[in-house]
Amino acid sequence: MSGYFAEIFSGTKSLAIGMGITFKYMLKPVVTVQYPYETLKMPERYRGHIELVKDPETGEAKCIVCGMCQRACPSGCITVAGDKREGEKKKVLGKYVLNFTTCSLCGSCVESCKSGAIKFSKEYNLASTRKEDYILDLLQRLKEQR
Ligand code: SF4
Ligand code: SF4
Repeated sequence: MSGYFAEIFSGTKSLAIGMGITFKYMLKPVVTVQYPYETLKMPERYRGHIELVKDPETGEAKCIVCGMCQRACPSGCITVAGDKREGEKKKVLGKYVLNFTTCSLCGSCVESCKSGAIKFSKEYNLASTRKEDYILDLLQRLKEQR
């Protein structure tokens, strides 16, 4: 009989401890997000893949097609090409592709760009089993931001 009451006491004690912990954490700030419905805000220094920067005046890419980032990349994962338009002296950016499968996020491209035309994105949600999903058309992505 005493074993029976000891079991009830032990069960009640465990329940009280468990509920105590539950109530304690109910009152604390939430530190989890409902992924994939919610996404985290990445810290300022976070390095996602590079992305093109838009010129606020023209709404176009700031890139002047100098090719410095392409030359600075130790992994050869940037392909830049310009189009020569009639009546315009300078080339206009026609292609900017990043092969993110070989990018080490070293930052050489961002440092080499004297026009401030590329920066690290805050993107972290790129899970895929297909290699092609990591060949990123950055010019197209910039246009889709509009
Ligand atoms: S270094 Fe900058 S301006 Fe030059 S091609 Fe690269 S992104 Fe464009
Ligand atoms: S971060 Fe480094 S490896 Fe990646 S594209 Fe830029 S230069 Fe190349």
